[in-house]
Amino acid sequence: MNILLMGLPGAGKGTQSEMIANDYQLIHIATGDIFREAIKNETELGLLAKSYTDAGNLVPDDVTNSLVKERLAQEDVKQAGFMLDGYPRTINQAEALDKNLKDLNESLDAVIYIDVEKEILKDRLSGRFICRECGATYHKLYKPPQVENKCDVCGAHDFYQREDDKPEKVSHRIELQMDSIRPILDYYQEAGILHQVNGEESIEFVYRNIQSILGDPFNE
Ligand code: ADP
Ligand code: AMP
Repeated sequence: MNILLMGLPGAGKGTQSEMIANDYQLIHIATGDIFREAIKNETELGLLAKSYTDAGNLVPDDVTNSLVKERLAQEDVKQAGFMLDGYPRTINQAEALDKNLKDLNESLDAVIYIDVEKEILKDRLSGRFICRECGATYHKLYKPPQVENKCDVCGAHDFYQREDDKPEKVSHRIELQMDSIRPILDYYQEAGILHQVNGEESIEFVYRNIQSILGDPFNE
């Protein structure tokens, strides 16, 4: 199965992805994570991407498209299927993805759009924090770790706030992506594969709705 998880920053893509990848055994490909890892390791891609991600702007399409193209062609992805998170974010990326999938003899089974309104997104991003060790995502009010200051997933005690989640960056990111996401949703609506879920519900409820779209993962 190949799926896309779409939504504005803070909609809950990363949170839902962790559960989907686990239950449906799909390879999780998050372009934002790939850029952050490259920036941390100071690779050529990281140096190129840094000024864009720091400013909350989109990395140019040619860079993002070739990165995804390369990842989709790898054997693990071909075997297991993929869940793309945060890609495509422009119509150019959606068209490039179509072409790449065609070349690979693959197709998309579902596009899930997690719908959340702007004020809620801002609240979520300002309270988000991440485990430095394993990348698990938390929220100070809505998803605190079960034991204070200890990661539920790996037990580490070291958390950070993303640079682009600082209040002065958040509105710009949301507004920029609001403009670019609409035509992509129309594109997949026309293709008949778009599903929308209400992302303002609880994390568990959103996941149940996603499961009802994808089918029971334990009952193939
Ligand atoms: P995205 O990957 O779409 O940017 P995240 O999954 O990182 O979004 O979620 C953004 C923040 O909101 C995180 O702090 C997360 O814990 C929290 N969150 C995610 N889904 C929900 C939800 N349904 N209700 C409340 N908070 C949520
Ligand atoms: P995210 O983790 O999805 O919020 O992405 C963090 C940042 O990475 C974004 O603000 C962009 O700068 C960059 N990025 C992630 N995905 C894309 C994409 N599909 N196209 C362009 N830039 C992206």
